[in-house]
Amino acid sequence: MLIVMESSATRDMIDKVCREVEKLGLEAHPIVGSLRTAIGVTGNKARIDSDRLCNLVGVQDIIHITKPYKLVSRETSPSDTVVDVGGVRIGGSEVVVMAGPCSVESREQCLEIGEVVARVGAKIFRGGAYKPRTSPYSFQGLGEEGLKILADVRDKYNLKIVTEAVDTEVIDLVADYADIIQIGARNMQNYSLLKRAGRVGKPVLLKRGMSATVEEFLMAAEYVMAEGNHNVILCERGVRTFADHARNTLDLAAIPHVKRTSHLPIIADPSHGTGRKDKVLPLSRAAVAAGADGLLVEVHHNPVDALSDGRQAITPDMLATLMKEVDAVARVLGRTCA
Ligand code: PEP
Ligand code: MN
Repeated sequence: MLIVMESSATRDMIDKVCREVEKLGLEAHPIVGSLRTAIGVTGNKARIDSDRLCNLVGVQDIIHITKPYKLVSRETSPSDTVVDVGGVRIGGSEVVVMAGPCSVESREQCLEIGEVVARVGAKIFRGGAYKPRTSPYSFQGLGEEGLKILADVRDKYNLKIVTEAVDTEVIDLVADYADIIQIGARNMQNYSLLKRAGRVGKPVLLKRGMSATVEEFLMAAEYVMAEGNHNVILCERGVRTFADHARNTLDLAAIPHVKRTSHLPIIADPSHGTGRKDKVLPLSRAAVAAGADGLLVEVHHNPVDALSDGRQAITPDMLATLMKEVDAVARVLGRTCA
């Protein structure tokens, strides 16, 4: 940590700050510049709580060098974490595609889409049985009935299942059926849900909050890991910006940034990231080019009649094209897809 003093700070003020640092069991190293003095602080094992020091007279700014997260940090684990979902490895050399409808609508719908997902080589079927909708009057999902349908798709097509747990009330039930538990963007900072996800014993797909910084995103993952669950897959799903050509702005720069600062795998969701079907294929290619370990895409055999997110659902034909194009991009980087 570096404490930057005001240019008008007196020798007494600087000495007082150094004494306060030492009271915390740390070492203070004043660095006298031509305009101002900065105090380097060493000896800490974790990020220092700087609230007290901020308030001392003469302190202008405090710059943290130690990251607030530990378990998710690259420093903790220099090699990449690979999350093994019953033989499907996320974070390794294969780019893993998770595809399916936004909502589980019926057994027929899921079996039809599941057949396509398996045929094109995607390994994981996604579908929401519990839906976090903006309006309480919109379709909220089929609940446990939807989970049973997902289990049927898994059995019939030998796919893994990812589905969302919207609250602590349903998370145990969701864990009974799902191979991966999704925590949605709206719940990224629902700390009681994150803690429960950390104890549930299934891999967690954690989506970035729609206005979360990458640091806040990694802190949310830290909550899950701190409870003992180290199988966390991050998902960049776009953030809110002023852009009005898309529903969200898929933050592709977050992918290499996360790869540098964390060992966890990160996938991209160009469906929610753009909200428009014509942008899903280009952004899928771009996300894989940026280093994404996988993709989460919404697909529907009849998008016009979809009960949620029809505007961003790609068709089965588009999914087949996506798989081919993404595989070609992956190969440039020494990876494969399907
Ligand atoms: C979803 O995956 O269907 C979903 C609701 O996503 P998000 O939480 O990213 O909005
Ligand atoms: Mn959706």
